[in-house]
Amino acid sequence: PLRIGVLAIQSGFHEHQVMLHRAAANAEVVQVRTKAELEDPALDGLVIPGGESTTMSIVAQRSGAWDALHAFVRKRPVWGTCAGMILLSADALNQKKDGQALLGALPITVRRNRFGSQVDSFQIELQEPVEVLSEGDKGSAGFPALFIRAPVVEKVGEDVKVLTWLPRTSGESSEAVAVRHGDILACAFHPELTGDDRWHRYFVRMVADARRAREAAA
Ligand code: GLN
Repeated sequence: PLRIGVLAIQSGFHEHQVMLHRAAANAEVVQVRTKAELEDPALDGLVIPGGESTTMSIVAQRSGAWDALHAFVRKRPVWGTCAGMILLSADALNQKKDGQALLGALPITVRRNRFGSQVDSFQIELQEPVEVLSEGDKGSAGFPALFIRAPVVEKVGEDVKVLTWLPRTSGESSEAVAVRHGDILACAFHPELTGDDRWHRYFVRMVADARRAREAAA
């Protein structure tokens, strides 16, 4: 079976586990914290959940898991949601004064806390114009997107595909909130909290495809 980890350092990992179970009944869904767990060759993919990106990097560095995490996100499929998106990014604006460690595997610039603080959380209906939610159908699909002290993507680098934009308000440029770069998926919102498991099913397909490709090459 597929083995999919959820980085369980802080905050929203349990909800992701529940959704992954729903999305892939046969997959093994495991909590991952340590260097050894990240270096396990049987781990096929990893979700880095929301929470607080500075805290997560500090904890991972102190526990000695950071370098293994840095290596993992460059070799197997990974999905960062909210703080997880920030951690994966190459550059983050609006950082803490002393800066913060980023994994840098995803060539995007994010702006942290784009919408203000916790009380400014909001949920909207967004359209996803490509392949994620429609599972191969043409056209676009709507889904609920929940933003909690969320970042946005301000700049995308080479080979980054924008999957979802915020609706453009007049005079403002539109902001990307979900992107894919190779086997890296990232979104600013929280699909694990809105009961719609299509984003999780999409990530499970990414993990299954990557594993098939590895097995075919072996
Ligand atoms: N604001 C948080 C950060 O900067 C992210 C919030 C979230 O993950 N819901 O890390």
